[in-house]
Parts: sequence; structure tokens; C-alpha cells
Amino acid sequence: MHPLLMSCLSWVEYRERIRDSQAIVLIPCGALEQHGPHLPLGTDALLSAAVAQSVAERVNGIVAPTFSYGYKSQPKSGGGQHFPGTTSLDGHSLSQMMRDVVRELARQGATQIVVVDGHYENQWFLTEGIDLALRDVGGSAPLRVMRLEYWDFFTEAVLGKVFPDGFPGYALEHAAVIETSMMLHYYPDLVRLDLIPDDKPADFPPYDIFPARPEWVPASGVLSSAKAATLEKGILMAEQVAESIAAAVKHEFQISA
Ligand code: ZN
Ligand code: MN
Repeated sequence: MHPLLMSCLSWVEYRERIRDSQAIVLIPCGALEQHGPHLPLGTDALLSAAVAQSVAERVNGIVAPTFSYGYKSQPKSGGGQHFPGTTSLDGHSLSQMMRDVVRELARQGATQIVVVDGHYENQWFLTEGIDLALRDVGGSAPLRVMRLEYWDFFTEAVLGKVFPDGFPGYALEHAAVIETSMMLHYYPDLVRLDLIPDDKPADFPPYDIFPARPEWVPASGVLSSAKAATLEKGILMAEQVAESIAAAVKHEFQISA
């Protein structure tokens, strides 16, 4: 029984939180996608759920069940679809799922929803689902939805500490220092430090090609080395990102006591 998790509340408790105190509902969104030999397939879903819970603690929110499948992995951001285990939705399916869930939450009285995305490829399909749900409920409904990718909240100061030799950019951070460090904090039992590969960073051309070319992607599935990942970096990033997202939520939404 966890008072932050929607799936652990009774309908009576949920109704009270939504109707009486206008609780914020957070929806974590991830993927089932290879993350190298050292991280689990559910990494994006696990991290978005953990970040959403940390934010919920700070804004007295409720965390809805995670979207555990995401849009198709792209070679240049997630390694691509050729890895066993990378199991994805068509864009239309993801948009429709988001549309249905947002509309359902709104129908029951939720007015403040935060979509916490942890899988890069999801973003426009989540946006489409939110947009269609807003159209469904009509312009006069009090529903407001915030959508975010948690990594956009990292401060320069924290990135400077995590990447003392310079931040290489998010494009190659798949299964690398950020995700591995944050997993060491939230789910240490699921990280295999001994299996971190030491591949050179991937070097992609500035275009995509279809069908995808698996040979563009390092065989390990890791787009740049995770060797510099540490628990301390994970704690630093997790705390800062939860504080910063909570501040944005407090700025945009009413927080119930
Ligand atoms: Zn990931
Ligand atoms: Mn991903």
C-alpha cells in the first residue's frame, strides 16, 4: 500500500484526493527497449516512474500506472528496433492510449495532469494524445496538462559535475552515464556494473535511413560509454531533477495541502 500510487488507492480515497483537493496526477511514460548488457529493458519506464514518484512526494501528487511500452526505438537515440526485447508501439497506438487515459482522468474530475516522459522517441506521440484529449473534453473544461522530458531539467551546474570533461549532449546518452547513474540510485540491484561495455561513442551521419542500418549502432546497444557512471552522480541528478520539476509543477498548478 503506497499512498502516492493510484493503483494502490481505493476509489473512495482517489475520489477524495481528486475532487476535494484537486490532486495532481502524474503519468510516467517509458519504453521496453534495450539499454546495453548492463541495464534492464525497462530502464526508461523504471526511471520515469521513479522521477514521477519523487516529484509526487514534493507536490502531494498521485502517480498513475506507468506507460511501459513506448514508440519505436530509433538507431540514433535508442539503438533501434533490431535488438531482441525492444518491443514498441506504433505511434498511433501510443497517441490513442494517452488520449484515452487523459480523457478518462479528466472525466472523473482530474484537472491537473503531468506527463513525465523518460523515452525520447515518445514525445510527439504523447503530445498528440494530450492534444486529442483536450479536444475531446472541450475548450471550456478546466483540464490542464504539463508534458516534459525529465532530462531537460538538469542544470548546467549538475551536468558540469557529472561530466567534468564536458557534456557530450543527450543524443548519445542512451544507456550511458545519466541513465546508468540514476539506475544505480533508484534500482541498484538491476545494474550490472561488471558488464558495462567500453565501446567508442557512436558516430552517426546527420540523416536517418529506412530500413534502419544496424551496423550504424554499436553492437552492445550503448551509444556512448557508461564507465563514468556512479551512485553519487545518480543521487545528485535524481535530487536536482525532482526539485526542479516540482518547482515547475508548483509554478503552473495549484498544490493541495
Ligand atoms: Zn533510456
Ligand atoms: Mn529510450
